[in-house]
This record gives sequence, C-alpha cells and structure tokens, in this order.
Amino acid sequence: MTPSGAELAGYQGQPGSFGARAAARCGKPVAFPTFERTLRALLAGEISCAVLPAVNRVDGPILESLDALARSLGEPESPIAVEAEIEVSVRLVLAAPEGLALESVREIHSQAAVLRQCRQLLARLDAIPIDTHDTAYAAFRVKETGGPRAAVCSEEAALEAGLLILAEDVSDVRENTTRFWRLARARDAADPVPENDVAPEGPAPRVVFYAGVKASSALAEAGAELLSLPGTPGDPIRGFAVVAEKSVARAAALTGRPAGGERVIWLGPAPEFVRPPRMRDIPKTTEVREPSVVAVGPFVVGGGRRAVIAGPCAVESPEQVARLARAVARAGATALRGGVFKPRTSPYSFQGHGLEALGWLKDAGDAVGLPIVTEVMAPAQVVPVAARADVLQIGARNCQNYDLLKEAGRSSRPVFLKRGFGTTVEEWLSSAEYLLDAGCKNVILCERGIRTFEKATRGTLDLGGLLVARSLTHLPLFADPSHAAGRRDLVPGLARAAWGAGVDGLMIEVHDAPESALSDGPQALLPEDLEELLDEFGILPGTSGSVERIRRAIDVVDGGIARLAAQRLELARRVGAVKRASSRPIRDEAREATVRARFADALGSDTPAATRLADALIDLALEAEKPGET
Ligand code: PEP
Ligand code: MN
Repeated sequence: MTPSGAELAGYQGQPGSFGARAAARCGKPVAFPTFERTLRALLAGEISCAVLPAVNRVDGPILESLDALARSLGEPESPIAVEAEIEVSVRLVLAAPEGLALESVREIHSQAAVLRQCRQLLARLDAIPIDTHDTAYAAFRVKETGGPRAAVCSEEAALEAGLLILAEDVSDVRENTTRFWRLARARDAADPVPENDVAPEGPAPRVVFYAGVKASSALAEAGAELLSLPGTPGDPIRGFAVVAEKSVARAAALTGRPAGGERVIWLGPAPEFVRPPRMRDIPKTTEVREPSVVAVGPFVVGGGRRAVIAGPCAVESPEQVARLARAVARAGATALRGGVFKPRTSPYSFQGHGLEALGWLKDAGDAVGLPIVTEVMAPAQVVPVAARADVLQIGARNCQNYDLLKEAGRSSRPVFLKRGFGTTVEEWLSSAEYLLDAGCKNVILCERGIRTFEKATRGTLDLGGLLVARSLTHLPLFADPSHAAGRRDLVPGLARAAWGAGVDGLMIEVHDAPESALSDGPQALLPEDLEELLDEFGILPGTSGSVERIRRAIDVVDGGIARLAAQRLELARRVGAVKRASSRPIRDEAREATVRARFADALGSDTPAATRLADALIDLALEAEKPGET
C-alpha cells in the first residue's frame, strides 16, 4: 500500500504533536484522543492506517501505546498488521507563556513518555513533571492556565500555542528519535485486491516486536510470547516476534494464509529453535542503550573515546615487532596488533610463527606500555592465546565460525570481531550476539571491506553498512582501511572517510620494511605515514613522541580553535538577533551554566582553565549579541 494524499492516517494527539508528524508521512492526519480510539477507528475503517509510537531512543518501548496495540491484538481475529516503520526526529523544547523565566518554572507538563526523555531537565529545574495526554495538548493547557507552568513539546506545538521557548533541545540525548509503526487492517483473503496493488507474497506479518521491546502485562495477557531472535529494526520480520501460540513449532508450521479464527498473531519465517539468552545481565547487541565502552589500559574506545590499533600484519621476529611497537606507540596508537596465526589464502604462504611469536608480541607491547591484539583462528587457540593477549581478534574469515565465537566469548578477554567479507550487517551483529551470549562483556566490531564486483581494491569499505551498524548497536565500531584497500596509497583516504563517519577507532597495518614483509606488505603504512595521519586526527603520542610533532598537533588544534571561535561569535550574533526579534532576554543564566558545565566536563571541574575559558566565551558572546554589533 503506498500512502497517497487521499489516505487518512490516524494518530493519538493533536496537531503539532510528533504523532501528527508521523501521520502526515502516511496520509492526511486525523487526530484521536486515545490510542484505543485510534485503533478502533482503524478497525472500523474510518481511517486507512494509523501510526503508533513504538520505541523512543531514550525511553525505549512506549508501553502506553504498545499496551493498547497488544490489547487490540488480543481480540479474536484482530486484523491489524504492522506495515512499516517511520522514524521521527524528536526535538523537544521547553516553552511557557511570555513572562515566565526559566528559573521560575515549577511544573513541567508533557506526555509521560516524553517527560521520561527529559530527566536531566527535570532534575536541573527541580520542577514537578505533570503527565498530560500529549505534547501539543500540554502546550495548549499551559498557555490556557498560565502560572509557573511550562510544557515540553515540539517547537511547532509551542509556536502554535503561542508560547515562548525557554530552552531548546531538552531531551537527554541529542538526535532523539521515536520510531512509529504504521498500522493497517490486514487484507483478508476475502477482500478484493485493489487495482494497481500487488498481492503480497505469502502471509503478511501481522505484528512484530523486535529487540528493545519488553513484555508488558498487556502483552502477556494477550498471550504473547516474546522471542529473542537476531533481527534489525529495518527488517523486523526476524526480530522479536509476538506469537500468541505457546508453541513456536506450531507457528513455524503455519506457512499459508491465516486460517479463520487463527490465534497466531505473528506469521512469518518462524525460528527453528529458540532459547532465552543465557546472560541476562549483558545487554544484547541491538539493545537501545548508552554506547558501550571497552577499556584495556590506555586503549579506551566507545562513547566518544576513539583510538587506533596499529602494528604489522604478522609478527615476524622479536626485533621486527619490538621496532614496530615503538614506532606505533610514538605515532599515538594505543594498542599494538600483530598476527601469530595467519589465515592465508594459500597453504604455501607464511602461516605465522604461532604461540612463540605471541611472547614476542607481548614483550614488545609491554616495552612500550601497549595492550596487544591478536587473531585466534581455532577454538583450541583461544585458551593459550587469551593467557597472554589483551584482546582476541576474530578475523573476517571466521566471523561466522560459531564454535570459535562461543569459545572466544567464554574467555575473559575483550573480542575484536571483524565483519566477514560476505557477511551482511545483520549476520555480523548476530555473530557479536554469540560473543555476548557466551559471556563476553567487551565486544568491538570492525568493518574491513566486503567483497563486491570491484576488483580495483582488495575489498569495498562499506561505510553505509558501518552507519547502519552504528544505528543498531551500542558496541564500539572500528574500521580497518588496510584490508579494505589492499594498497598503501588508499589507506589514509579510507581512514579519513571512516573517521569522518564517526567510527570509534581504526585498525591500521604498519611495517617499516613493507617490501620484505611476510604478509600484506603492499597495504602497510610506513610508521611516518601513520604519524602524519594520526596528526590529522589529533591523536597524540605519549612521552615517546617528539616535541616538534606535538607542536604540529598543537598548531592544528589552534587553527581549529581560531576557526571555531570565529564561528561561535557569528552564531552569538545570530542568536542575539533572534532573541531581540522575539523579545527574549539576551542574558540566560541557565544557558550560561550549561556552557560552563560543558567546559568543566571537558577540562575538569576543578581547573581554573574551564572557568576562565567559559567566562571569556560568554563575555564575548554577550558583547556580540548586543544590538548594533556586526
Ligand atoms: C588481519 O587483521 O590481519 C586479518 C587477517 O584481517 P581480516 O580478517 O580482516 O582479513
Ligand atoms: Mn593483514
């Protein structure tokens, strides 16, 4: 079914709410007072589809609406189907009638799920959260009743209600989003297939709940069973499925169209075998949560911490690896790599020096204070390698070697899992799930180039796939431009692209005599190339670095600060103009406190530098915001 202007799309709320925005993407929005009423309208054919908020990035599953859906699905022969998912970006503002200052706000009105997305704001203002029916309604109520009341809503709703915006972007995370589900009546076999509409192939999934959605009491009452299967929100069919049947096997057997009165809510490719995850305290790969951080000594990645693992493809000799360890540490890498078991295409190629070389690698890492990352190729290698290596790598060829994943996941070491060159993002994340399920709390993922028709490069660095993975998992994500390129000259460019795409780190192969390297010489950067590249990323060496190099990095940083300062002043001028145009006061102490807190956060709350820098910026901004400044 393609949305057309003529289709009526129901939602719960009022114009200006996020539900209205989601509905507008499906047809002509029609407002209803409750989720239940929206669903009834859908069943009665008053509207051709309905949108329902399902999962919010901060708050997780929105049980208020999912409960209503579950109750409706619990009815015999409920014909509702989830057709599509619509992601709506949620920018929340705090708004109040003119004259109310931020610090005087005592009550904050909004929808319960939205209030849960703004805990930091509530804590900061020490105001009472008041649950209203929807965000746009909260804005109207606050306008009507006045007093020390503000609403959290969309900017659009605030403007529509005639409120002034006291604070912008008040949700706990930036780029907050809510995923809405577009619901429609499933077409029965008896319904005529509309003209120009393609009959669906096989049975349509009737409802699918995927990773992140927890069972609620109503779901349980509806007889629903939550099945944890590997799946992605974009392709939820293999995600969490809700099945009214107690027997999964029974659901699997239903491959035709639903028979009349059938109680199975979800029909689709059913699992062959399902068991609950073993490690309940380890979040699943695709759970909606804060980014995970993996830390091994100086090597810390995830949640804004970025790092580079560098070193030779293979550990060739004690001297070679000791030299390269010094070189990569000097360049600023925070972990040393080197293969001792090498997966080689030809059995006649160098296969690695084995466990003896692990000792050389470890000694080299210890000498420069870097943890070591090395590959395990077989389950039997896991225990001996984990005894000395800080991080176990699972290579591209073994991404789906499930016995190896299980064994590596049981070792107490963090695991660095490369994406197989023929593995989809979904399969890759599912492989990570094996590690988590085996008890490994510290998993890092690495995209290293997939196999495409292109032969000019060794692999195709799949940045799109990397971004998809970023949207699905909390685990740290790396890119390996060396194996993707296969050619030294392309490595810096791919590294920059991946860095720009926001990876948590890079794995880069380095050799000081690539012509005589025993493996992957053509793609190895020279140590000086690595230094130059890391300079660009502002990655600084430890005490082994030269003063000149650090100065070069300082020059780059100064250039950045100068440019940013100019940009900041320009923005201050603009915000001044907007404030004057909307009669908002120029000074905003809460905002100044946020700026100070940001500097204290970055520089340490007890450093005078934090206060002095923040104060200088605030003073300059206030000057720039004054009228008449150009
Ligand atoms: C390696 O990192 O040396 C390696 C063999 O990589 P991949 O598994 O990505 O080919
Ligand atoms: Mn290699």
